[in-house]
Amino acid sequence: MIFYSILSDHERLLQYLRDLKIIDGIRNCQQCSKTMKLSKNHAKVDKQEWRCDYCLRVESIRINSIFEKSKLSLRMQMEILYFFATDIQVFEVEKFTDISHVTVIEWYKKLRQLCKLFLEKDPISLGNAEGSVVEIDESLFGKKKGNIIKGPANRTHGFSV
Ligand SMILES: [Zn+2]
Repeated sequence: MIFYSILSDHERLLQYLRDLKIIDGIRNCQQCSKTMKLSKNHAKVDKQEWRCDYCLRVESIRINSIFEKSKLSLRMQMEILYFFATDIQVFEVEKFTDISHVTVIEWYKKLRQLCKLFLEKDPISLGNAEGSVVEIDESLFGKKKGNIIKGPANRTHGFSV
């Protein structure tokens, strides 16, 4: 699987994240505005950091990204994102990885919140001009039972966030 070949190669994973603009590919120093350089630092979990040659400021390569506040490796965080995006349940993520139950729960909650914010900012219309029936599984939002929003047509659309 291509995704796992990217995950298993740290340098390739960093490039992949930069190509997708998930982490910065170019960065200006917040202190002196000069262009920062990527430097190797094997003492860091990410093996790289941003350095400013002028004021000597050092920043994480995770700065301003979804990964910024986590102590997990980028590989582990990407695994969680992948499992979330492919609708894998929390207990299954725990089986496939060494990531704790609490951490997976926290990440899934955070990702659901991000999806919610994204949809609130940029809503997606479901159905067509004649209307439709939309089923929303509320369990995905932390409630137990599903809900049905009915429209004039007899179509049913399911979606999950
Ligand atoms: Zn600087």
